[in-house]
Amino acid sequence: DRLDRAWSAVNHLNAVVSTKAMRDAYHANLPRITDFYTDLGQDSRLYARYKALRESREWTALGDAEKRVIDNELRDFKLSGAELPAFEKARFKEVQEELAQLAADFDDHVLDATNAWSLLVEDIGRLAGVPDDVIAEARNEARADGHAGYKLTLRMPCYLPVMQYADDRDLRATMHRANATRASELGADPQWDNTAIIERTLQLRQEEARLLGYANFAEVSLVPKMAGSPSEVMAFLRDLAARAKPFAERDIRELDEFAAQSLGITRLEPWDLAYASEKLKTARYAFSDQEVKQYFPEPKVVAGLFHVVETLYDVSIREAQAPKWHKDVRFFEIRDRADAIVGQFFMDNYARADKQGGAWMDDPINRRELAGGVQHPIAWLTCNFAAPVDGRPALFTHDEVTTLFHEFGHGLHLLLTRITTPGVSGMQGVEWDAVELPSQFMENFCWEWDVVRDMSAHVESGEPLPRALFDKMVAARNFQSGMATVRQIEFGLVDMLLHSDYGADGRPRYATPADVVRTVRREVNVVPTADYDRRLDSFGHIFAGGYAAGYYSYKWAEVLSADAYSLFEETGVLSPATGSRFRDEILARGGSRGALESFVAFRGR
Ligand code: ZN
Repeated sequence: DRLDRAWSAVNHLNAVVSTKAMRDAYHANLPRITDFYTDLGQDSRLYARYKALRESREWTALGDAEKRVIDNELRDFKLSGAELPAFEKARFKEVQEELAQLAADFDDHVLDATNAWSLLVEDIGRLAGVPDDVIAEARNEARADGHAGYKLTLRMPCYLPVMQYADDRDLRATMHRANATRASELGADPQWDNTAIIERTLQLRQEEARLLGYANFAEVSLVPKMAGSPSEVMAFLRDLAARAKPFAERDIRELDEFAAQSLGITRLEPWDLAYASEKLKTARYAFSDQEVKQYFPEPKVVAGLFHVVETLYDVSIREAQAPKWHKDVRFFEIRDRADAIVGQFFMDNYARADKQGGAWMDDPINRRELAGGVQHPIAWLTCNFAAPVDGRPALFTHDEVTTLFHEFGHGLHLLLTRITTPGVSGMQGVEWDAVELPSQFMENFCWEWDVVRDMSAHVESGEPLPRALFDKMVAARNFQSGMATVRQIEFGLVDMLLHSDYGADGRPRYATPADVVRTVRREVNVVPTADYDRRLDSFGHIFAGGYAAGYYSYKWAEVLSADAYSLFEETGVLSPATGSRFRDEILARGGSRGALESFVAFRGR
């Protein structure tokens, strides 16, 4: 626990304040940490103790949570090579060390490649269509470098709005290429090319699987998950693809026609998709993301999010003091009705140059029983939204509001647990393909009028979001959802095939990872893609995160979260009774019992 707490902090800082000094310290210590955990996972004395406990009479006296911890441990010992002969144990350890190093390098390359690219635009005419706040930020960035003009970057708060709104097609094409070739052999600098890292990572994962007696890494990855086998996952994804693809094809056909008729774009290119989609959405539903964004200033959104949580789970949230790694970070406490601390969390909302992209939640400290009382959990919530510009509050798009709710859902899984047994409290021990249940569940509230009305206030007038505008958003909610669905399925299939498409000889059936991407695209993709597209080279989820042979989890858990939310729709979306049942049966239970069991306990089926 002490090591976990310390290393979690280092790991986190390496992601959010990725300075040279922090990176060097991280890389210097990573092999030692990996070493320690591999040794711990293979320790035959400890393993023997666990086995003895499992066979002893004391076993029957243990509670369900304790029993589950022991069973998980026994499973994990096997997966860590505890049953291997000595020389294979040593090899297993080398493999783990190299994999850890490769993952760290992968992330560094993506961040460096992202930061290394920028485009100084001198003529503001080239930015026609781009929202004012994005232009203001680009001007500030250029000024900070001592330049006149506007500095465009590949960080999401700049990249996305340029792709969505810039009328200048060449500018979009330039930005698209820069983004899609990051950390690839086509990128700006070969030192950040992740191609070899990807091949080596897959090779080592396969070796690990063979050492453990499995046919491929996907099988290893699925042992602690809900899904039973790679073929079950493939069947799930392909079934979903077959149902979604006709809708995706209709989406792209409509976009094609609209682009030709209204935008003079006779042939849609990859860099036109976001732009044409936004224009079509505006034409069809008479609103734009930019208009909606004016109603979601950060303070109002955060208060609205807290209000939902306070109402559903009978807790209160207030800001508190703690040391922070950046001035923009905020710290909060959750207290129960008796004013006792339930948990604490940090919010780090804005994109920065030295911060990894994306949004995620980390659980450095979990709830557990200690001699002196209960240690409460602490969460780190990280997003990459645009920071406030020129004294105005940060404004969030509805997508960003949804992302914030999503990450907070993960946070609640950790913070509202009642389990005090280490290993199964919070998200610990929860099947990976069920961890997106509480997070995707929270997203639903961003579509409820009562919630949205209370968490919106126009940045200038202070007026809540007009009902008419909200109705248009709801009407547009499933706009292009066919395309969005097949895109997620594409990622899931690529991930699964990379880790499971191996022959009886243990060798991959595909020639290169890029071939897998091409094959899957032929199968499910409906949108134009560029020859230079090397998105696999920045796919950190599966090469530097925990989603290897697990990306399908988003869709898998969405089935559960949608069904869970339907009970709220039936009983009132802000019903404290249903909220407390959701907390009692799902959030509070953590990994102390199977995810499906928790789901059935909540949903009654
Ligand atoms: Zn998530």
